[in-house]
Amino acid sequence: MFNTVLLVDDDQQFRQLAVQVLEQRQCKVFQASSGQQAWQLLGGTHPDLIIVDGVLPDVSGVDWIAELRLRGDTTPIIFISGHWWDPDTLQRLFREYGVSLFVHKPIIPEAFSEEVQFLLARSSTASPPGAEQDLQDELDKLRREYASKLPDKLDDLRRAVNAARERANESSLLNQAKSLAHKIRGTAGSYGFTTIGERVGKIEEALTLLEKEERQDASELWNRVGGDLAGAISEALSVSLRDPRSLESAPDSAVSTHRPSMARILLVDDDPEFLELARAMGRQRLIEIVTASHPEQALFEASTGNIDAAILDVSLGSTGFTFSLAGELRSLPGCQDLPVAFISADERIERRVTAAQMGAALFLSKPLEPEALEFAVHQLVSARQLGKPRVLVVDDDEDFSAGVELILRQAGMLTARLHDSTRILEKLNEFCPDLVLLDVLMPGLSGYDACMMLRTMPRWRDLPILFLTAETGWQSRSAIFKAGGDDYLTKPVMAEELLTRVKIRVERARLLKERADKDTITGLLLRRAFMEQLAPMLAEAVKHGWPLTIALLDLDHFKKVNDIHGHLSGDGVLAGLGRLLSRRFRMHDLKGRWGGEEFILAFSRQTRQSAHTAVERVLQEFAELSFPGEHGEEFHVAFSAGLASYPSDGASIHELIKKADGRLMAAKAAGRARVVSEG
Ligand code: GH3
Ligand code: MG
Ligand code: MG
Repeated sequence: MFNTVLLVDDDQQFRQLAVQVLEQRQCKVFQASSGQQAWQLLGGTHPDLIIVDGVLPDVSGVDWIAELRLRGDTTPIIFISGHWWDPDTLQRLFREYGVSLFVHKPIIPEAFSEEVQFLLARSSTASPPGAEQDLQDELDKLRREYASKLPDKLDDLRRAVNAARERANESSLLNQAKSLAHKIRGTAGSYGFTTIGERVGKIEEALTLLEKEERQDASELWNRVGGDLAGAISEALSVSLRDPRSLESAPDSAVSTHRPSMARILLVDDDPEFLELARAMGRQRLIEIVTASHPEQALFEASTGNIDAAILDVSLGSTGFTFSLAGELRSLPGCQDLPVAFISADERIERRVTAAQMGAALFLSKPLEPEALEFAVHQLVSARQLGKPRVLVVDDDEDFSAGVELILRQAGMLTARLHDSTRILEKLNEFCPDLVLLDVLMPGLSGYDACMMLRTMPRWRDLPILFLTAETGWQSRSAIFKAGGDDYLTKPVMAEELLTRVKIRVERARLLKERADKDTITGLLLRRAFMEQLAPMLAEAVKHGWPLTIALLDLDHFKKVNDIHGHLSGDGVLAGLGRLLSRRFRMHDLKGRWGGEEFILAFSRQTRQSAHTAVERVLQEFAELSFPGEHGEEFHVAFSAGLASYPSDGASIHELIKKADGRLMAAKAAGRARVVSEG
C-alpha cells in the first residue's frame, strides 16, 4: 500500500534527494515549490504526510502551516528547515499546530528515511528486501551529480555576493545572495558535503548580519564572506576532482557512506599481511583503512579518495625510502595539510630525524598494536580537525594590520582584525583565535594592559600572545614579558619570520591544550575544559535566544562489567563510547567525560526533541557494539541518558545539569538503556 506525501520546498535539488528517500519508503510524492502551489495540489489530494520547508518563496513555512490548520486540515507535518527558529516559534509549531517532527537541514538521508518510516508506521510501509542498498546506490548517484554541479552553484553565489557588495544599498541583491546561500547550505550538507555546507552557512549568517541596521563592521563581514566563499569554492573543486571514486560505494568504502564522519586513513606498506592486519584493526576501531603497496598507488588513492591522514612505511622494498612520498602526497590538490606519520621496524635515530624533517607528525614502531594505531589516527585526525590557525591582529594602524593579515592569509591562516583594543574581549569570544598579535601603543587600552588583563582570565590565560613593536630597547622587551607576552616581533615585520613564529606557537599551544583538556581513555574533554567551553556557549544561546540542550549519560551496570569482564575491558568500553560520541556528533557539539562512567554532551541550537533523537540513535548503535572480555567472551553494554534544555528547563548551567541528572535517574529507574527528556 502506498502512502502519499506532499513535499513543499523550493530547492529543487533538495526535493530530488528527499523524493529519493521517500520513494524508497514506498511513498507517492507530490512536489510543490511554493506555498501557493501546495494549496493547488491539496485541492486534489489528501496526503498522509506533509513535509514543509521553513522558508518558501511566497510565504514562511510557519505561516503556511498555521493557515493549513486554520482550514481544519490535521495531516501530520514534518517541518524541515536550515534556519534555527526561536524557541517560541518551535513551541507554537509543536503545541498549537501539532507538527510531528522538526528536521534540521542538512538532513542525514538515512536518518530522515527512518524518521519518515516511523511517522508513517501506522499504515505499514516496510521496505522490501534490498531496498536499503538500492537507496544507497541512488543516493550515491545523486551525490555525484550534485558534486559536479557544486562549483557552478558556488560561482553563482560568488556573483550574487559581489553584486550585493558593490551595490550595498540595494537590499534585494543582498536577499538574493542570502537565499542562494541558504539553499546551498541545506542541500550540500544533506548530500554529505558538510564542510561546504558549514562554510556557506557562515556566509548566510554574515549576510543576515549585513542586512541589519547597524553596519559598522560591514567591511569585516564582507571579508569573512569572501574568505568562506573562497574556502567553499576550493573545497568544491577538490570534491568534484576527487569525485567520482570517493563518492562511489566501492566495496571497501561501503561502510563510509553510512558513516560519513569515520576517519579514512591511507596506509602505505609493501607487506600484504601487515595491510590485512591493519584493515582488521581499523574495522574493529571504526577507522577506515585504505591501503597501497607502492607510491603510485598511494598517490592515486590520495588523489581520488577523501583521505584524512596517511601512514607510510619508511622503506618500501624495491622502491627505497618513502620520505619524499610525503611531499608528493602533500602537493596533491586538497592534501596540502595532510597529516603524515611514518612507521618502521627500524628505530634508528637518523630515520626519526629525517621523518621529522619531512614534516611527519608521528613516528610509529612495528609491530603495531591496535591501541597504538588508534591513538595515532586520533592524533593525526584531530590535528587536522582543528583546522587552519586562527590569528587575531590587534593594531590601531589599519594599513599595517591589513598587511600582516594578508601575509597570514596567503599562508592559509584564518584572520581577523581589531582596531579598537577596548573591544578585545568581545572579539576574542567571537573569533576564538589560536593566537593574538598585539600592538603595544594603542589609544584606549595599551597592548601591555590588554595582555595583563587577559592573563587574569582563566579562559585566556594560556592564549599565545605575540607583541608587535617598533621599540627594541631592553626596557620595552622586558615590559612585554612582564605583561605576560610570549614573544615579540619588531616592526617592520618580515613575512618569513612572522609566519614561522606564528605557526610554531600555534602548533605548540594546540598540542599542550589538547593534552591538558582531554581525557586519555575516552579522548573527550575533561570536566573542567567542558565547563570552560559550555559557559560561553550558553551565554551565546541566551544572547541570541537559541535553544541549548545538555545530555548526561551513564553506563548501565558498569560495576558488573568490571567485575565480570575485567577492569581493562571496562576501560575498552569507556574508550568505545568516547569514540562513538566524537564521531556521531557535530564538531561544535561539546563532548566530555563527566567523571567515572558518566559522560556529558552539549548541543548548541538544538531543541530537546532533536537532541533526544540523536542521543537515542547513538544509544542504539552503542548497544550493538560488542566488546571483548578478559576470558575471550564478548559482551554488550548500554547507557541511560537524561536531557535538559535552555530555556525550558532553566537558564543556568547548574539548573540544566541538575535537571538532566534528575532525568538520568528517571531513565535508570524506568529500566535503563533509554533516554529521558521530559518530566
Ligand atoms: P547503574 O546502571 O545504576 O549506573 O550501575 P553502575 O554499576 O554502572 O553504577 P555504579 O555507580 O555503582 O558503578 C560505577 C562503576 O564504574 C564503578 C567503577 O568501578 C566504574 N568505573 C568508574 N571509572 C572507571 C574507569 O575509569 N575504568 C573502569 N574500568 N571502571 C570505572
Ligand atoms: Mg555512575
Ligand atoms: Mg552506571
